[in-house]
Amino acid sequence: MKEFDYIIIGGGCAGLSLAYELEIHNKLREKTLAIVEPRLEYKRDKTWSYWKTLDHNFKDCVKKNWTNFSVNIPGKTKFLGCNEFPYETIDSGLFYEKINNKLYRNKNISFYKSSDEISLSNAFVFNSVPIFHSKQNKLWQHFKGVEIETKKSVFDEEIINLMDFDCDQRDSIHFFYTLPYSKNKALVETTWLSKMTNDLQKDYDDQLQDYIKNHLNIKDYKINYTEEGAIPLFYPTSSKEKNTINIGTAGGMTRLSTGYTFLNIQEHSKYIRKNIQTISECKKYEINKKYKFLDKIFLRVLQNHPNKMPHIFFSLFNNSPENVIKFLSNKSNLLQDLSIIFRMPKWLFIKELFKNDK
Ligand SMILES: Cc1cc2nc3c(=O)[nH]c(=O)nc-3n(C[C@H](O)[C@H](O)[C@H](O)COP(=O)(O)OP(=O)(O)OC[C@H]3O[C@@H](n4cnc5c(N)ncnc54)[C@H](O)[C@@H]3O)c2cc1C
Repeated sequence: MKEFDYIIIGGGCAGLSLAYELEIHNKLREKTLAIVEPRLEYKRDKTWSYWKTLDHNFKDCVKKNWTNFSVNIPGKTKFLGCNEFPYETIDSGLFYEKINNKLYRNKNISFYKSSDEISLSNAFVFNSVPIFHSKQNKLWQHFKGVEIETKKSVFDEEIINLMDFDCDQRDSIHFFYTLPYSKNKALVETTWLSKMTNDLQKDYDDQLQDYIKNHLNIKDYKINYTEEGAIPLFYPTSSKEKNTINIGTAGGMTRLSTGYTFLNIQEHSKYIRKNIQTISECKKYEINKKYKFLDKIFLRVLQNHPNKMPHIFFSLFNNSPENVIKFLSNKSNLLQDLSIIFRMPKWLFIKELFKNDK
């Protein structure tokens, strides 16, 4: 069976980001790489959004960015600016096309549909396929989004609505999210934070239809694109196999309090590229432990007090947007962390801090 220096299992966001990072820094001139990806074709399947707190390789795949956002709970709305760190959205279709066009040109890179076709024994493996030993009783961020187009100009394309909690909560946490790409095109998503045990929460189409019609007051529109997904708000099982590094979701790159993963993947790819010569001896890259600790408590509060969460999210934005964005993007300093912590309901968080894990 064919042997390679490096093998990437899973040619999704993390696998392709890493391959591209290695390729553009000439790390694959004298090394061979196999990418194992079972999908038959690449097409737009996700919209990756984040606060742009660092540079990445995919500026030309950005669909739009915004410097204003709003957050609301019933009867109250906050309008905030984010000039320093715009909110940015990547079109996954453009991302896959750009990367694959580049990778296909290098003869040292080969593509396979299954890892049974190659020998893994002497290669360094980057694995992006997560293993979940148990999905029971775990929190997920699950959602469906539709990109709608209207005949009339109905959207303010300058401002996104990050979280609209003015909707049915059904004993969970539920909000809508609207990204206006232009005056007549927007992505509208219904998002739940829950254990996904209640099938009644999954009537996403009805929720979207009702929100668009009765909340956004849009009666006449067509749907150009849909996406659906569930982001685990817990870490997958991490196996410590020799000569293997887990990347992407599998590598714990998701920020559990938010589901944001894309920029963490880009940082991890850069870290691997910089250390590729000595990768087998390298320290494991992970999201700073302080965020892991704070997110754990946050998720306990979220799980045990879902009815309080719309107000908690809303009061998070009593901070300066810069503090919140840096905190949510793992870029905050101690003062910024404290300013976030002090605006949370202290007793609730302290109580959850001292509860044992179930
Ligand atoms: C719909 C959706 C929207 C999201 N939006 C955002 C966002 O706005 N911002 C953000 O920061 N994060 C977002 N995320 C979270 C995260 O950024 C994405 O899930 C991202 O795609 C994770 O990258 P990944 O490489 O770990 O997984 P994937 O991109 O899912 O890649 C894994 C790849 O492995 C392949 N695979 C599966 N089984 C095998 C196998 N046995 N062998 C080999 N390959 C296999 C799959 O086909 C896939 O291509 C979103 C997630 C989803 C699902």
